[in-house]
Amino acid sequence: MPLLAAHVPTMLAAIIVCSLMMAASVALVGWGRRREGLCHWAAALLANAVGHVLLVLRDQIPDGLSIVLGNGVLSAVVSGLTVAIYRFQGRTAPWAVLVIPPVLAAASALAFAGSYAARVACVGIVLGLQFAWALAATLRYRHTTVGRGWWLLATGLGLEALVLLVRSAAALALRGTEANLLQSSGLQTVMFLATLSVVLVSSVGFVFMSRDRADESNRVLAAVDPLTGVANRRSLIAALDRDVGRALRSREPLAVMMVDIDHFKRVNDVYGHPAGDQVLCSVVNVLRERVRAQDLVGRYGGEEFMVVLPDTSLAGAEQLARALCRAVADSRCHLPGGRSGPATEIAVTVSIGVFGGRLEQGDSWDMLIAAADRALYQAKENGRNRVEVATGLRRPAGAATAHGDAASTPPGSPSRG
Ligand code: GH3
Ligand code: MG
Ligand code: MG
Repeated sequence: MPLLAAHVPTMLAAIIVCSLMMAASVALVGWGRRREGLCHWAAALLANAVGHVLLVLRDQIPDGLSIVLGNGVLSAVVSGLTVAIYRFQGRTAPWAVLVIPPVLAAASALAFAGSYAARVACVGIVLGLQFAWALAATLRYRHTTVGRGWWLLATGLGLEALVLLVRSAAALALRGTEANLLQSSGLQTVMFLATLSVVLVSSVGFVFMSRDRADESNRVLAAVDPLTGVANRRSLIAALDRDVGRALRSREPLAVMMVDIDHFKRVNDVYGHPAGDQVLCSVVNVLRERVRAQDLVGRYGGEEFMVVLPDTSLAGAEQLARALCRAVADSRCHLPGGRSGPATEIAVTVSIGVFGGRLEQGDSWDMLIAAADRALYQAKENGRNRVEVATGLRRPAGAATAHGDAASTPPGSPSRG
């Protein structure tokens, strides 16, 4: 027996045991997560075990079961894996791609029941193309698939497609080298190792894809304000902290705005809280439309928003703040009519406090927020629907004096508390 030619029944037994164990593991992970396709993947692995049991019983059960049904089931396994991949991507697999190959595989196994080489070639081409289709479906959505699990999935599928197609070509070229399935050969061994790789590597990859997506959605949930879809207070502060570090290293200026909707309580009182929520989203849209790609708009809390503007001087930030103030005042939040009342347009204004300038070692994100907050307080004091500029950061006594437009101010300037 050549060195690479492993004992076929042993390899088939390994595939059956691995398929069963992986089916149970994937089903356990996927329990209750129907949209992820994990249960379909587990069912396909279970079918894989059944298909290989039919193969290993060659000569002990009727050929109709082992050859015809066995090959049909193996093709149905690839259809099942494809369904799982499509389901994970939120798509529905075309039924023809799922149903025709198993019928073709069973029919060609029946047609070539007497010729092992022709059967291997035909069934190999059908299954190889099915794996190639599943690989193409995986690669098509790789940009929207988070994590690296899809690499494992694609590797297993690609390997199996390649080996099946090479094996088909070899079966036609070297007609008669193996007389039947259970006869050992190097090619048989490579074939079964490739099947094992799909069972193990691709299954692990598929589970990782699902886990990575859950991690990503948790990360987004923890970072985004659910009402307005912008950064929440936590991620705003994290981003501002990063930008402060960057501004200190690069000596570039950094600006921050605090934006507060004027008399927002009245909006809730007059139109109700759901309308108030709509107004919050409408103001956010106005802010987001007008800032640059590198600027960050976030909800600091309630009806208060923060805009972080890297590489921006105080003059630039003040100009933008005035434009934002005008844009919000000119905008309208349209509420469609319904059971709660007729269609309405709500107008609101905002007050904005701005801080901007170069930072000094020791300056921190909370000092910037406090400065912008003091300016916001001034804007409210001075009549609302206006912009006020922070005169500087409040640094601890003895700290270096600020450069540029971020001059220090003596303690005692107004604070909103
Ligand atoms: P000022 O001009 O001084 O800022 O007055 P204001 O009424 O905007 O400020 P105040 O702090 O008195 O009220 C803020 C209101 O914002 C009170 C609170 O019910 C409302 N609010 C906070 N978060 C939400 C929210 O998520 N949805 C809605 N609809 N209202 C909210
Ligand atoms: Mg307010
Ligand atoms: Mg407020």
